[in-house]
Amino acid sequence: MAEMNKRTIEDISMEGKRVLVRVDFNVPIEDGRVADDTRIEAALPTIRYLQKNGAKTILMSHLGRPKGEKVDSLSLKPVADRLGDLLDQKVHFAEDCVGSAAEGAVEALKTGEILVLENTRFHPEEKANDAEFAKKLTGLADLYVNDAFGSAHRAHASTEGVANHLPAVAGFLMEAEVKNLSRAVENPEQPYVAILGGAKISDKIDVVRSFLDRSDTLLVGGGMANTFLAARGYQMWDSLVEVDALDTAREILQGSGEDMLLPTDLVVADDFSAEADHKVVDVAEIPEGWQALDIGPETVETFRQVISTAKMVVWNGPMGVFELEPFAKGTNEIAQAVALVDGFTVIGGGDSASAVNKAGLAESMSHVSTGGGASLAFLEGKMLPGLAALDDR
Ligand code: ADP
Ligand code: MG
Repeated sequence: MAEMNKRTIEDISMEGKRVLVRVDFNVPIEDGRVADDTRIEAALPTIRYLQKNGAKTILMSHLGRPKGEKVDSLSLKPVADRLGDLLDQKVHFAEDCVGSAAEGAVEALKTGEILVLENTRFHPEEKANDAEFAKKLTGLADLYVNDAFGSAHRAHASTEGVANHLPAVAGFLMEAEVKNLSRAVENPEQPYVAILGGAKISDKIDVVRSFLDRSDTLLVGGGMANTFLAARGYQMWDSLVEVDALDTAREILQGSGEDMLLPTDLVVADDFSAEADHKVVDVAEIPEGWQALDIGPETVETFRQVISTAKMVVWNGPMGVFELEPFAKGTNEIAQAVALVDGFTVIGGGDSASAVNKAGLAESMSHVSTGGGASLAFLEGKMLPGLAALDDR
């Protein structure tokens, strides 16, 4: 694994210390319960380590977009409860992340105990990265740990501001994400095959460029491929095509030569719906009024061949509208192909990770990133403020 130039929880003594940990507990809540606890699970190694090493563990996170106000449905209380279930022990909860509720709860906390603070985004100062607010948070603790890789691309008080006032180190999840993703950015093994899909090019122009620079072959599918195909002159009819991105797409195509492969056939439908009439057609033969919702079998086969030669694969973005069963096949078959690679395989991006999980293939990948926007930013080679703010080794 690549080295990380940041200090981690293993570089620092926790004994008897109040440790403020930024975790990514931004989980889906349905009917007041946690609907998917993947992100809570991902934080457990750090939490267990702190506990074992005699820390008083204070966890903080955002949840959803409460816009700087208290919103009951976005409380972290159900998350604290689920964490208690997973650890099989009492987890304390403070009704606010700063002020007397938080201070009292921290004061009462004993060595080895765990406290979850209420949603940091109930305060507008969180997103504003307000220095006074950051100081209130750090006043609760002796040390700061950032284990919220999924939020590291944002410079908020709990992810960045607090690191200026306390010794600040990375947790295990942050460390694993950085090491695994660095390997793809810094010195990829070859052949390196990058796979890019998802809805739009405009979200990911820098990712396209970064992948083209670094990979040997770039395979493009999903909605993004539609815009490239349109730029090549194909009639895409009702497919998702970004007209504003056509010039950029043309420019990228001109520079990419044979290193970038686009679909040669597509699954098209007469409506954006699971019940729509659908069929496989050549890219040049989309019927008027139809739309491309998945890559076709010939494309899957071409991509599969390329993938099978890879020593490294980085994949972001589904190959089609995988949420609708008739258009999930391309994504699932590419996931199968990546799972079989004899090499290092990384999945980045929220929907991509969920597609791989849904296909039951997460265990077969070297690394499935928990960060959506953060993993994309990292793969683009951008600096993540939440990571940069941590103490250098
Ligand atoms: P990630 O979260 O992995 O970065 P994106 O958010 O960029 O991925 O894209 C995922 C979305 O792209 C999915 O909701 C999927 O339905 C959509 N998508 C994929 N292919 C198409 C297509 N051909 N037409 C419309 N939407 C598509
Ligand atoms: Mg997404």
